[in-house]
Amino acid sequence: MKITKFGGSSLANAFQIQKVCNIVLSDEDRKVMVVSAPGKRTKDDTKVTDLLIAVAKARLAGESYKDDLDKVIARYEEIADELGIKQVMPDIIERLSSIAAADYTDDIKYLDSVKAMGEDCCARLVAFYLTNEGHKAKYCNPAECGLYLKHDAAGKAVILDETYTNLAKLKDDTDSLLVFPGFYGVSKDNEIITFSRGGSDITGSILAAALNAEVYENWTDVDNVFAVNPNLVKNPFPITEITYDEMRELSYAGFSVLHEEAIYPVFKNGIPLNIRNTNNPSAKGTWIVSKRSHYDSLVTGIAGDKGFCTVTVSKYMMNRQVGFLAALLKIFSDEAISIDHIPSGIDTVTIVLRKKYFTPEKEAIIVERIKNELGCKVSVDRDLAIVMIVGEAMANSVGIMARAASALSNAGINLRIVNQGASEISMMFGVSESYCSYAVRVLYKELFRY
Ligand code: ASP
Repeated sequence: MKITKFGGSSLANAFQIQKVCNIVLSDEDRKVMVVSAPGKRTKDDTKVTDLLIAVAKARLAGESYKDDLDKVIARYEEIADELGIKQVMPDIIERLSSIAAADYTDDIKYLDSVKAMGEDCCARLVAFYLTNEGHKAKYCNPAECGLYLKHDAAGKAVILDETYTNLAKLKDDTDSLLVFPGFYGVSKDNEIITFSRGGSDITGSILAAALNAEVYENWTDVDNVFAVNPNLVKNPFPITEITYDEMRELSYAGFSVLHEEAIYPVFKNGIPLNIRNTNNPSAKGTWIVSKRSHYDSLVTGIAGDKGFCTVTVSKYMMNRQVGFLAALLKIFSDEAISIDHIPSGIDTVTIVLRKKYFTPEKEAIIVERIKNELGCKVSVDRDLAIVMIVGEAMANSVGIMARAASALSNAGINLRIVNQGASEISMMFGVSESYCSYAVRVLYKELFRY
């Protein structure tokens, strides 16, 4: 069985929806399709999810949300009209209107319930269309199927273990094509919880794992994942194959083809993930696998991401103080802040973390505690980008760090942090945010010799 997931650009209008349905119907192993909300039709268009967020925000602010809701309805109306299924609209309008107008006690829960309607209505519409065209298709409700989520301490949606056993039961249902809305699940109290943006990728991955699929096909609008962001380099090298580990490192540092959390469910179950292009289904796409069959290049990909900061803690004779690092890290964990890297020297240790979690309020508390409880000097720098060079084939090859570092130094880029793990799958450089894209270009030029 193959699980397919289609992104917003693949569902943006009636023409795209027809393409998507043809893709699914062209292979009888494609039994489950996960859909996003309709995305942008043109560069300047607005995604349905963003329109829904505007609806919810207007309501929460006590303002009229009618105009925004009308825009959402108009998007579905246009699609239904062109697909010749106007009959589906009364149900969609009723659902959208009643969710938007529902009573609420919690702003976040209300926002989630409205946001999720983009995928929910899209799945209902696609299932209706397929049935209307004479195919056996069924809309699946995540609540009825038992896609259970909860919020962790930081407010992030996490999957409950029983979700996998619940969704495995869909195997008995595959005489119909199952159309599943992405992006959301429910709490045990039946309240809608959404993943973070782009989260339909996670739904597809959970279903592939639960149903032990042969492959998870993630259909988007590019032929391949590229070795570097195509907005930075012209015609970049395509990646035909990449491991989960490599992909995870690249997603961490800004590769945005796939949601970062979508890799784990398929990785855990060894299910290959194939990124494909809805607009060019004959392209083989990029395969994400646990073990590679070939290497097209020494380096698989290069990525860079802004938005990091460093907290540097110094104390004379720090290396002699037993338990110092544990005490330091406890302060961050008490404040529910996760840490990304910890480069250290004998009398200094630097904590690298994402700025968006290390708010100025958290900074004030943590810095004060480090000074008072550990008696250290502390300095915070909020201007750091991380650049990663990733590739399994780099392990045991000599000289890549030297080439990368000298290319960066010849370009006048100061390296603030350098880190290479013992697994040798990646090298990380910390540079000023203003150098992020430039550093990626310089490294690509050096390592891909274009
Ligand atoms: N529709 C949601 C978003 O725009 C989720 C998704 O497309 O995966 O982020």
